[in-house]
Amino acid sequence: MFTHCRLSVIVVKLNIEQQKILVQEDSVNDFRIDIDSCFAILQEAPYGVILLDNSGKIVYVNTKFTGITGYVISDVPTGRDWLNRAYPDPEYRKLVIDFWKNDVALKGVDRIFRVVCKDGSVKEIEFRPFLLDDGRAVAILSDVTQQIEAEKALKESEKRFRILFEDSRDAIFMTTRDGGFANVNRAFLDLFGYTMDELAEMSAGNTYFNPSERKRFQSEIEKSGAVRDYEVMLRKKDGTVMNCLMTASVRKNEDVVLGYQGIIRDISAQKEMEEAIKESEKMYKSIFETTGSATIIIEDNSIITMANKEFETLSGYERGDIEGKKSFSEFVDKEDIQKLSDYHKIRKITEDAAPRNYEFRFIDRNMNMKNIYMTIAMIPGTKKSIGSLLDITEQKHFQENLSRSFRTMRDIIENAPIGIYIVNRKGDVDFVNPEMLQISGATLEQFMSLNVFRLLGYQRIGLVDKIKSGLDGEFFRIDSVEYTSHFGKRTTIRNFIGVPFEEGTEKKLLMFIEDITKQKFNELQLAHLATHDMLTGLPNRTLFLDRLRIALAGVQRYPQNLAVMLFDLDKFKEVNDVLGHKVGDALLTIVGERVAGVLRQSDTLARMGGDEFLVLLTNITNLNDADAIAKKILDVFHKPIQIENHIIYVTTSIGVSIYPDDGKDADDLIKCADIAMYEAKQSGRNAYRRYK
Ligand code: GH3
Ligand code: MG
Repeated sequence: MFTHCRLSVIVVKLNIEQQKILVQEDSVNDFRIDIDSCFAILQEAPYGVILLDNSGKIVYVNTKFTGITGYVISDVPTGRDWLNRAYPDPEYRKLVIDFWKNDVALKGVDRIFRVVCKDGSVKEIEFRPFLLDDGRAVAILSDVTQQIEAEKALKESEKRFRILFEDSRDAIFMTTRDGGFANVNRAFLDLFGYTMDELAEMSAGNTYFNPSERKRFQSEIEKSGAVRDYEVMLRKKDGTVMNCLMTASVRKNEDVVLGYQGIIRDISAQKEMEEAIKESEKMYKSIFETTGSATIIIEDNSIITMANKEFETLSGYERGDIEGKKSFSEFVDKEDIQKLSDYHKIRKITEDAAPRNYEFRFIDRNMNMKNIYMTIAMIPGTKKSIGSLLDITEQKHFQENLSRSFRTMRDIIENAPIGIYIVNRKGDVDFVNPEMLQISGATLEQFMSLNVFRLLGYQRIGLVDKIKSGLDGEFFRIDSVEYTSHFGKRTTIRNFIGVPFEEGTEKKLLMFIEDITKQKFNELQLAHLATHDMLTGLPNRTLFLDRLRIALAGVQRYPQNLAVMLFDLDKFKEVNDVLGHKVGDALLTIVGERVAGVLRQSDTLARMGGDEFLVLLTNITNLNDADAIAKKILDVFHKPIQIENHIIYVTTSIGVSIYPDDGKDADDLIKCADIAMYEAKQSGRNAYRRYK
């Protein structure tokens, strides 16, 4: 590589003896120059020149030789001296000697050797040796140290570039201006899925999602000579579209744009990730906004960086006045600040150790105090905390009121005139009020140990099934039942009412039992009053007529006799007048009892009013039966009656009428008995008369 231009084609012939140098151009024309010029040229030539004679003696070196090697002719008088000094390493020297022996005969063989110069430095020197016709040897030397080093450096950097280029994970391209691919690296091929051969046939525009995009890229890059992180959508061989960032520069020769080179980075995944992050941020933001409770993000230094609408409402501040501006502690009542900051300190160390929920007093913009229930947690991987605040001020009041009203409610239930108890899912009794104990005749312990599913009495009236469906949520009512409790108490229950309810998540049944036994008694009493005489308790005229009519209806089916008796006390007015009305009343009662005592169960004794009584005798076989009973009644009066300290003698007059002889209906029979009784009075009283 003898690059020193035109001289590479010059063959120099030196003839020292003739002091003549023949210079011959081997190209077109031979030409001769004079020896002085020739010598001057040799002396000043930019190449070292060394001439050896046949005996190996160095006969000439030029200035440049000394300039390059430092040696003058006296340093190296012979070729051997030169070899020894220039190549002190014997092995290397042998290599050089071999070259001289074998190759020097060949014309135009250049060889570079490492020469140790006079000053000890090592230079890469290129030798072009040749033999003159007379056997002398000439060598032309050129210092190529720098050149070699530059080449080495170039190779080195080329190697480095190759490594960078080939091993780069980024796709690298070199394109021509019109879109041909000049070179691409492996990563490029991998990214796009093409082979080198396929790319050779393609235009760069084909790798764009929108081929016309390349025009835009070209104008962009040529404007400033380079683009950085230029966003572009490219397409793989399989059609996949990629979001890419391109960093490229223009390749120029002088002012002519040859093409472009650059790096492509696929950021699709990154873009997708960014999109996903944006999406999830949006989602979290909307969750944050719509949690329904006041929510804030608190930084480690207690500054609130995010607040939602509910927090605005709670605090009375606009979001813009809170976020990044207000410290959470500004909203906390002085007395609670220490407590909260203690919790926060614990939370920073161990999240689990700090309470996640607690109550504190919140101060809003208008200095109103609110009771807050706060749930707070650190956001994993950050120093932020998320807090959700619930205003429980009203609830707190409510709770206070509730415990007050609970007492009232309990009082009401305890004193309710209605039996109340609660049955749980298993049929056990959870609660019973005193009235229910009263109704059932049980003690609290007895009632509480009941299982209603096992109560025979309940099963008998279908109540167990009702209770079971009640526990499944079905309201029920059983009306008016006569019921004997498990504890033996007979009651009349107007209704069993089952009201399903839930205590927490457990289904239960609230039972209301209305005991109307007393009411029922009162009703009966009323009915009794309507049909009985208040004073004596005997059936009254209405009931007597009723029974008489029933009896009359009966005798028409089974023919038999009936007798109606009417008796009236004799001179009763006098008893009233002498002993007083009260004694009169007592006398009437005793008379009723005594007469009832001599009658059969099937007979009816009634008080008609005043001192008049009626008797209905059924099942009379012969008429003498009626006479006998009349006599018995008269006899009752023959015994004196003692009331208080009065001994009273009183008699009665009896009138008797017989069915069917004296009358067919009640009115007739009573009328006849009345007439007969009148006759008995007329006869002198204390007597009985049959109607004639
Ligand atoms: P006689 O022998 O004719 O029947 O004479 P008497 O005095 O019994 O007269 P009468 O039967 O006509 O009168 C009944 C009296 O009974 C009239 C009334 O003052 C009295 N009397 C009516 N109802 C009651 C009552 O509920 N209690 C009392 N103590 N007296 C009554
Ligand atoms: Mg009378």
